[in-house]
Amino acid sequence: MSIADNLKQYKSEIETDKVKLIAVSKTQTNEAILEAYNAGQRVFGENHVQEIVDKQLQLPKDIEWHLIGHLQTNKVKYIAPFVKLIHGVDSLKLLQEINKQAFKNKRIIDCLLQVYIADEETKFGLAFDEIIEILRSEAYTELKNVRILGLMGIATNTKNEKQITVEFNELKVFFEGLKLSFFTKEDYFKEISTGMSADYKIAIDEGSTMVRIGSGIFGKRIIKHFKADVSAN
Ligand SMILES: *Cc1c(COP(=O)(O)O)cnc(C)c1O
Repeated sequence: MSIADNLKQYKSEIETDKVKLIAVSKTQTNEAILEAYNAGQRVFGENHVQEIVDKQLQLPKDIEWHLIGHLQTNKVKYIAPFVKLIHGVDSLKLLQEINKQAFKNKRIIDCLLQVYIADEETKFGLAFDEIIEILRSEAYTELKNVRILGLMGIATNTKNEKQITVEFNELKVFFEGLKLSFFTKEDYFKEISTGMSADYKIAIDEGSTMVRIGSGIFGKRIIKHFKADVSAN
């Protein structure tokens, strides 16, 4: 199936007024991204700063770019002028730097806090109590140029659907608690970014409002270092 066919298939399965489809285009060429773009897709997710910066420069300006991967504090400045949503915020220090760079760019940058839900050592993210600690801190209340829209999480990479369901459900329950404790008046606190190609259906059943789909749209990724393709404009 072509990229356009894959997108059509996802859009028929997902209630797109409730769940945003993010096309994860990391390692994909500009040509492949334009194929998705020409099929109507406008929201793309990348996980490397250099790659998202290059693609933002080269591709149509009405694309919404989401940074979904781990972000280092010293690289925030490169994406601050244009990034639409930063999914993987996993420290107060990073949030403070995003706030600083957003201020410099006269913007308010939307963020999600990445919560650690997987039963794996390697995944980035904050524990539930660390998130509460950030939201209670004086330092957080001083941040005027960031807005937290919700939470992001990555489930364990397993075929055990029960386990994935439990992990997404825990995130959802925690989200509801945060909403009641810290964001009762903030209507924008409503996003749950969970679900990838392998587990997006479970994620949606467990309250996801943003699914991040890569290989399901573009096919298997070729594992190689990204090389900028400057042919498109
Ligand atoms: C790569 C990636 C995805 C997409 O994964 P697929 O399995 O290709 O759908 C989603 N979220 C994050 C954070 C990723 O790095």
